[in-house]
Amino acid sequence: MLQLFDTAQGKVVPFEPREPGKVSMYVCGPTVYGPPHLGHGRFSLVFDVIRRYLEWAGYEVTYVSNITDIDDNIINKANEDGIGTDEVVARYEALWWEAMDAIGVKRPTRDPHATAYVEQMVALIADLMGRGIAYETSDGVYFTPAAIDDYGLLARQSIESLQVGARVEVDDEKRSPIDFALWKKSKPDEPAWPSPWGPGRPGWHTECVVMSLDLLGEGFDIHGGGQDLAFPHHENERAQAVGSGRAFARYWLHNGFVMVGDEKMSKSLGNFTNLMDLAHSTDPRSYRLLVLRSHYRSPVEVTRATTDDASEALARLDRFSLRAAALPSDVEPDETTLVEFQSYMDDDFQTPGAMGLLFSTVTEANKAIDAGDIELAAALAGAVREMCSAVGLELRTDDEPIPEADLALAAERDAARKAKDWATADRLRDELVAKGYVLEDSASGTVIRRP
Ligand SMILES: [Zn+2]
Repeated sequence: MLQLFDTAQGKVVPFEPREPGKVSMYVCGPTVYGPPHLGHGRFSLVFDVIRRYLEWAGYEVTYVSNITDIDDNIINKANEDGIGTDEVVARYEALWWEAMDAIGVKRPTRDPHATAYVEQMVALIADLMGRGIAYETSDGVYFTPAAIDDYGLLARQSIESLQVGARVEVDDEKRSPIDFALWKKSKPDEPAWPSPWGPGRPGWHTECVVMSLDLLGEGFDIHGGGQDLAFPHHENERAQAVGSGRAFARYWLHNGFVMVGDEKMSKSLGNFTNLMDLAHSTDPRSYRLLVLRSHYRSPVEVTRATTDDASEALARLDRFSLRAAALPSDVEPDETTLVEFQSYMDDDFQTPGAMGLLFSTVTEANKAIDAGDIELAAALAGAVREMCSAVGLELRTDDEPIPEADLALAAERDAARKAKDWATADRLRDELVAKGYVLEDSASGTVIRRP
């Protein structure tokens, strides 16, 4: 039986879905005002692995992840670039999905946009005001966390200590420093929607509570996100649901941070500037393997050195996959291996243990092929395929050589780089990427390969 660490309970607990056989999940998506960074890549991969595993284990999963398309950062970016907020959103949302496709993250079942839900958010805010747990000031509408008995549940702190720790803002109208904005009255020329409190826009915490309850219903199963979202974002989402008399998420899952090392060091090592950079300059599957080799609640180090290491490990899996292609495919996957795999994954997604098993199964299968035990090799190879599909690791299955003409383009790019003709080098890189290749810069020059 699946057990998972619930942030609200602060411990590993058995997972009991709202409806047998079905899992409803909401994962906070990006605010689209810049290229996706490595932290975005981590939470997307962590929850993609969890979703795929649950599907593999037989659950019917509804996966909702939002796009925040109105927010102060988007407005600031639009002003900076002298364009409309719509243009900012269109540009960076497109880049978001491009990055998700590049790292093999499945599209959500639903991807609600905040601006499509403003009316429902206004209705929720009016309801909370009617209950006396929200109030209007000259710049917006605020929520009163003190009205919620167990506020601080996700922060794992008492409301008193949160009050003491809160930054004291220069705002005489807020009744407590931990009160948060449900509605922000707009300044001239800012995007605005009508409301009983004048034109304005919803606060971020209101968006997710409305969209998750609308699309998944009360008492949905899992609410997820990076650990930095547990407080205040998730705490405040939950407070609004509880305050309006509705059951919210049954389980809360939070993933750990991404470490990129010391900044100076990361520059000298040519580390990645963002997720697209990683996807273009290394095997994007290496990030998934890195994520799988760490527990989702632990930090993970994403640097050129760690992705190179993961790429080497992937090459081993690919070599096996190509070798195993010759084995009979009508043999049942090895059951003992799959039971062991499931026991790791059901233990709060112990993916490092599951990956250890994957690699040792590859070793065993290679030995069986060497010894001519085709039946055993085929059963183990079947288990390897099952485990990879359960966590979304795609292995190579063909070994077609790369055409000479494309190798020539790579050589041309190296010559251009040597001559410091960066424009030509970039154009050739783009051309090869457009052909579907992954480029790696090695000491001996550009290496191209299929993803
Ligand atoms: Zn959210």
